[in-house]
Amino acid sequence: MSDRIKFNLLENAFDYLLSAAECVKKGTPRDNKYALLHLVAGIELLFKERLAQEHWSLIFNDIDNANRVALETGDFKGIDLDKTIKRLEGIVGVKLSKLAIDNIRKIRDLRNRIQHFAVNVELEQAQSMMAIGFNILLEFYHENIKDQSIGESIIGDIYLDLRHFQSFVDERLKAIKPQIEIEKYLFDCNRCLNRTIALQNGKPYCLFCRYELDSESLAMDISEDGILQNCPHCEQMTCTWVLYNNDYGEYVCTSCGERGDYSICSRCQNLKLEEEDPCPDCWEQIMSKD
Ligand SMILES: [Zn+2]
Ligand SMILES: [Zn+2]
Ligand SMILES: [Zn+2]
Repeated sequence: MSDRIKFNLLENAFDYLLSAAECVKKGTPRDNKYALLHLVAGIELLFKERLAQEHWSLIFNDIDNANRVALETGDFKGIDLDKTIKRLEGIVGVKLSKLAIDNIRKIRDLRNRIQHFAVNVELEQAQSMMAIGFNILLEFYHENIKDQSIGESIIGDIYLDLRHFQSFVDERLKAIKPQIEIEKYLFDCNRCLNRTIALQNGKPYCLFCRYELDSESLAMDISEDGILQNCPHCEQMTCTWVLYNNDYGEYVCTSCGERGDYSICSRCQNLKLEEEDPCPDCWEQIMSKD
């Protein structure tokens, strides 16, 4: 076992981001200072990772002098954040809004002040800037980082740490509001604790934390009794009884989203839209036997 410190660009970015989220969760002024430092480091590295995915020479300040030996040893002048953003937009074709770029620069400037000068900022102001930073960064990750296999579990941990960071929750909910508003059915997400799971082409998907799961798992998550039944609308085995409060509940299907207080056929035990008992299907079978 060697004790060398070895991270690739992406691992390094995730390590900073996870550390930033952990610091935010701890919440003392000192933790918040490190959260901000690590968040900006994570943003810079993640942006560079996207450039490197396009071509490794793009992370050299002077592309003409880019070479593999320098890349391996790390002995070269890298690009600053402004140049990184310029290359992301101009060469890679990444779209960042003007507001997002302004906000990233503001957070970076605050980081520079903390790192190089005595600084006195309101905790609330620092937190609201970090909330914006986390939102931009996670959105960038979901939209632009191609290989998500390494990052998925760390991203999950980051969302878990940020669950109780109210400024971030508010910021992210505001960002996805237009998407939420067009959804007819929303379910609670076990990962981020928001009611932001929508059914996209019948597949549950969290608009807040981008968590994906199958309809059966979501049905088990929200079920009162752990029993999955045949949905009378879409015929998938993903309909279950959900209790909203002591005296109000209904059947909910996590494939088609339809819900209602269905009757149960005493003969086949299936959920039925019709009131008749036995259900029309059973009647048909009974009649055909005679
Ligand atoms: Zn979620
Ligand atoms: Zn259904
Ligand atoms: Zn029946």
